[in-house]
This record gives sequence, structure tokens and C-alpha cells, in this order.
Amino acid sequence: MDLSYTERERAFRDELREWLAANPPGERPQGEEADYAWRRDWQRRLHEGGWAGVHWPVEYGGRGASLMETAIFFEELGRARAPLPANVLGLLLGGPTLMVWGTEEQKDRYLPPILSAQEIWCQGFSEPDAGSDLAALKTRARRDGDGWVVSGQKVWTSGAQFSKWCMLVARTDPDVPKHKGLTYFLMDMEQEAVQVRPLVQITGEADFNELFVEEARIPDENVIGGVGNGWKVALTTLMNERAGLGFFLQVRLRQLLDELVEQAAASGALDDPRVADRLGDLHVRTEILRLTAYRGLSAIEQYGQPGPEGSLVKWLWSDTNQMLTQLAADVVGPEALTAGRPWAYELLRARGNSIEGGTTEILKNIVAERVLGLPRAR
Ligand SMILES: Cc1cc2nc3c(=O)[nH]c(=O)nc-3n(C[C@H](O)[C@H](O)[C@H](O)COP(=O)(O)OP(=O)(O)OC[C@H]3O[C@@H](n4cnc5c(N)ncnc54)[C@H](O)[C@@H]3O)c2cc1C
Repeated sequence: MDLSYTERERAFRDELREWLAANPPGERPQGEEADYAWRRDWQRRLHEGGWAGVHWPVEYGGRGASLMETAIFFEELGRARAPLPANVLGLLLGGPTLMVWGTEEQKDRYLPPILSAQEIWCQGFSEPDAGSDLAALKTRARRDGDGWVVSGQKVWTSGAQFSKWCMLVARTDPDVPKHKGLTYFLMDMEQEAVQVRPLVQITGEADFNELFVEEARIPDENVIGGVGNGWKVALTTLMNERAGLGFFLQVRLRQLLDELVEQAAASGALDDPRVADRLGDLHVRTEILRLTAYRGLSAIEQYGQPGPEGSLVKWLWSDTNQMLTQLAADVVGPEALTAGRPWAYELLRARGNSIEGGTTEILKNIVAERVLGLPRAR
């Protein structure tokens, strides 16, 4: 792969830089509600400027950016210290899943408000007894007239408190093998039958929630990819989660590493060869991650959707982010362990990285079996 920019790519980068200079994201505000409002406003501005879905095809309202332009886009956002857009799950997971499995009517109805952040999406996959083994989920959907009635419990549903739509996987046929009896729905969160209860994380924030669903109604036209086909549709979402999000997050990792190197240089910690050695190791890992993330994007370009290699990016990212934030605690000292300080937030938030979007153990299984072709564990 040639990683130098062409004339066209340079023009794309310059146009974006100019736009970002004229439209800075501003300082991150304090407090969850304010932070969310800020990220939603940021996405609206990106949308108005034509930058919300650079990697989405033009026919779906995106910019149809090439692999390299998409990479440039994410890197420039990183340079501008821009936040993740509020509808990150819609942009990176929900939209691309609809593009593969949705009907024309579904794409027309749901894709535009994802881009503009008018309708926020969340992911209702995990349950108290079904996380890694997602196909064991118990939430039931039964047919009722021309729709479905759904009951069950979901957990760890990020951003559910702000969401209009939930990508919900439920069991529609309990009498067939577990992977075959699932259906993927788009559930309207704005109904009495759906209760959202926040769960406070180690960071002190409540990014995710419990979801109690008691006889919620979903019309037939909100089935995505056909009844009984939910497992395959869910895999499309998960592969996009690992590859797409991995790319965005590796840019954030580079920002954090640069900040840490600056702080280590300013405090003199960089003169300690043990610190310099660990920073050097982190630099190499971050570069490997960047290049592996590029490979993931080229798979999307070639095959239309991400492959299992995205699992490697997500595993390497979570591992490296945890190492980096741990080193920051050693370099920065007590400040990095004081509640409310940015490094303390990064350190505590990083603990969940090896669980969210697939645990490290599960990702290692996928890489072993589907990338390296090793025998199945069971
Ligand atoms: C910050 C954060 C945000 C999240 N957001 C969402 C969200 O928006 N929507 C959503 O649906 N879910 C979300 N999740 C849930 C996440 O997807 C699950 O936590 C994850 O899939 C693991 O499931 P579990 O917690 O049930 O753990 P389990 O599956 O019970 O795993 C427990 C332990 O056993 C290990 N294990 C399990 N099976 C195997 C195996 N076959 N081989 C080897 N080891 C194994 C796991 O690696 C883990 O260490 C989020 C989680 C976090 C931490």
C-alpha cells in the first residue's frame, strides 16, 4: 500500500483543515449532559459542513471518501482534538449494518437522521447472562398481528438514555438451535414499555445503562435482514464495531501518547531510561496499530465490509491504551489518580476497553480461528 498523499488527497486534507480551523470543536464541557450536548452539536456542524459521513457512499448522504481520505479525515479530527460525534454507534455501526441488510425503505427512512444526529442509536445486544456468548440471549419477541411484542432485559447499553433507536437482537424462535432463532430489530426507545436505568462506572459517569423491556411493540417493517437471520446481521454490526471504532480510537491513542511524551519531557521523567523505554514501546505499538487499522480500511474498500482482522486492531488498541494510561499514572504521579482530573479519567475508563466491543479473550479466539486458521477451541 502506498501511504504517500496524491494531489487529490492533499487537496482533501487542506479543505478539511481549513474547515476545522474555521469550525473548532471548542473545549470539552464538564458534566455528562453538557458533554453529550456538545458532541451532538459537533456532529450537527460536521453534517452541515458535509463531513459527518465521509466514509459513507454518496448515495446514502456520505462523501464517498476513499480509504486514504477516510484515514486523513480521522487523523485530522484527532489533530483538531475533536470529540467522538454523539451518534457514533449510528454512524459506525447502525448505518453500515443497514447499508448491508436494510431494505430501500429502511435506508431512506433511517440513514439521513443518523448523519444529522437528529436520531441517536444505541446497541442492545448484551444481557445479564449473554455477553461473549451473545447467541444465548433470552429477550423474547413474539408475533402479534402485523408486528412484534418484545420482553426482556439488556445491560451495558451505552448512550441508551439519549437514544431514539435501539439495535435490538431478540429470540423469535426458541425451538431451533440458538444461533438460528434470533432476529435483529430496530426498537423505538420512546415508549413506556422501555425503561432505561443508568449504571455508574468506575469513572463516576453513567455512560451505559440497564434496559428493561416489558411488552414493547415493534412493527414488522423494523425487522432488519429478515426473521431468523439476526445472528448474521449482528455479526455485521460487531465487525464494524471492531474495525471502524478501532480506527477512530487509534487516533485518540496517538494524541494521548504525544501528550504523555510532552509531560515526561517537561518533568524530566524522560531522562529515566525505564520511562523512555516504555514510551518507545508505546510509540512502536501505536504505529503498528495505525498501519493495521489502514489494512482494516482497505478490507472494507475491497470487500464492502470489514473482515475478522478488525478483532486484532481492537485487541491491540485496548492493550496499548491500558499500558499507556498506567504509565501516565507513573509519570504524572498523584495528579493522575485524583478524581476529576483528565488522566485519572483516562486511566479508569481504560479498564473497560478490554471488555467492551468483545473481550480480549474472545478477540484472541477470533484471530486464532478466523485469521490464522488454527483449530477451533470447541
Ligand atoms: C464500557 C462498556 C460499554 C459497553 N457498551 C455496550 C453496548 O452499548 N451495548 C451492548 O450490547 N453491550 C455493551 N457492553 C457489553 C460488552 O459487549 C460485554 O460486557 C462483553 O461482550 C462481555 O460480556 P459479559 O460482560 O457478559 O462477560 P462474559 O461473556 O460473561 O465474560 C466473562 C469472562 O469470561 C471470558 N470468556 C467468556 N467466554 C469465553 C470463551 N469462549 N473463551 C475464553 N474466555 C471467555 C471473557 O473474556 C471474560 O473475561 C459494554 C461493555 C463495556 C465495558
